[in-house]
Amino acid sequence: MCRHAAWLGAPRSLASLIHEPEHGLLRQSYAPRMQRHGRVNADGFGMGWYDGSLPEPVRYRRAVPMWTDANLPALAHAARSGCLLAAVRTATVGMPIEETATAPFTDGPWLLSHNGRVARDALRDLADDAPSACDSAWVAAAVFARRREGRPLGESLAEVVVHAGAKDPGARLNLLACDGAALAATTWGDTLFLRADLPGPDLPPPGSSLLGSQPQGSPHAGGGVLVASEPLDDRPGWRAVPDRHLLLVSAGGVELQPL
Ligand code: GLN
Repeated sequence: MCRHAAWLGAPRSLASLIHEPEHGLLRQSYAPRMQRHGRVNADGFGMGWYDGSLPEPVRYRRAVPMWTDANLPALAHAARSGCLLAAVRTATVGMPIEETATAPFTDGPWLLSHNGRVARDALRDLADDAPSACDSAWVAAAVFARRREGRPLGESLAEVVVHAGAKDPGARLNLLACDGAALAATTWGDTLFLRADLPGPDLPPPGSSLLGSQPQGSPHAGGGVLVASEPLDDRPGWRAVPDRHLLLVSAGGVELQPL
């Protein structure tokens, strides 16, 4: 089970997901706190962000442990965007360890990460080909095929998860994706947490309903929303997303739909 995290809001650096929080993805690469499958995430890592001068996201991914890349801290500090996604990987048994198997996968403006496992046969009628034999690469190819049909981000994720989940009852399909203006995530067998980051100290009370709530601090207010497999720190305000749901985060608010 890998770990992934994303941010939508006021521009910040990728270090805000990886190096700065006490339990950011760097720490989660060797000491995750809630991981149920696999103990460390040493089989690769990746990150993606949006630079206004390029039509597509910038992606950096490597098939080595995150802590071995000496160039990463400065790069993650310099890479800033209002929409960020990063992941660390522990390969499922039998899956190749290679860059093309490592999230984030990308197609046009979309970035995507998968926590979990799924039989590739469950995806064969949703995708023709994938850049790696890794199940996650096939999940990404299935989602990206929907994008090319003009389908929205959240709907594409939901359709692939529900279809593959029905074909493979043992599948775990926590997806996290973004398109530069919105985040979408699914819970299907693993944890996911959400935290609204305000420019000020006030936070919504823990446990308050996610349904219909506005992101506390929209991109315009200087705040934003963090989404992660497990909390990046011990600050109050992290809320668990229930299993088998689709989470949508945009400047308009946070929405949660059952799958
Ligand atoms: N099955 C995917 C892989 O092998 C994802 C693994 C995970 O979530 N740990 O990369």
